[in-house]
Amino acid sequence: MGKLIIDLGHGGQDPGSIGPSKVCEADVVLSIGEEIEKNLNGYDLEYKFTRISDKFISLTQRASIANIFGASYFVSIHINSTTDKSVRGVEVWQYDADSKRLNNFSKCVCDDISKVLNIRNRGVKYNKNFAVLKNTKMPACLIEVDFISNIDAERDLKDSAKIKEIAKVITDNLAHLYDLQKVKKVEEDILYKVCIGAFRDKNNAINQVKEAKSKGFRDAYII
Ligand SMILES: [Zn+2]
Repeated sequence: MGKLIIDLGHGGQDPGSIGPSKVCEADVVLSIGEEIEKNLNGYDLEYKFTRISDKFISLTQRASIANIFGASYFVSIHINSTTDKSVRGVEVWQYDADSKRLNNFSKCVCDDISKVLNIRNRGVKYNKNFAVLKNTKMPACLIEVDFISNIDAERDLKDSAKIKEIAKVITDNLAHLYDLQKVKKVEEDILYKVCIGAFRDKNNAINQVKEAKSKGFRDAYII
């Protein structure tokens, strides 16, 4: 079975980028991560988050958590920021293009998030200088969901319905990356009741139950 590391950027004393009305990157990626975790419970996958609370973890620690865990893929989630406040859009960074599967994942995440938020698809980009991409031993990518420096993006990123949609498309693409099938709901949850008659006269109902019991249906009862 494959193993996955999801790395939520920043946290603790490092808030990451901060939007015009003070929404911070660390909180946004944590809320996306919490939703992804709920979604992943429906799948048979061994996964670990570098953090799933508001705490600080160094970039070196993040990579070593993934390397020790022996993850097959490393997916980091961040929110972008820039001085030009008009800029919006999703992009995904990779160290290189060696993993076809990861390339496809990154491309689909860009497509899907750009649709969900109705923003520009800035595509998959490559950079050998990002610490977490450089120091992880497995194929790794870093999703920059949108630009928190833009006021509309900031509003979307504090909207719980939008966060759920972002988490859903990331989870769906992870399921595809790992060839996961949804774990079937346990059958015991569903009870099929059998009805064997309806009577106006109570005595007829009582007799029917007696008959059913005499034939071995000991749990028969009147509603
Ligand atoms: Zn960041």
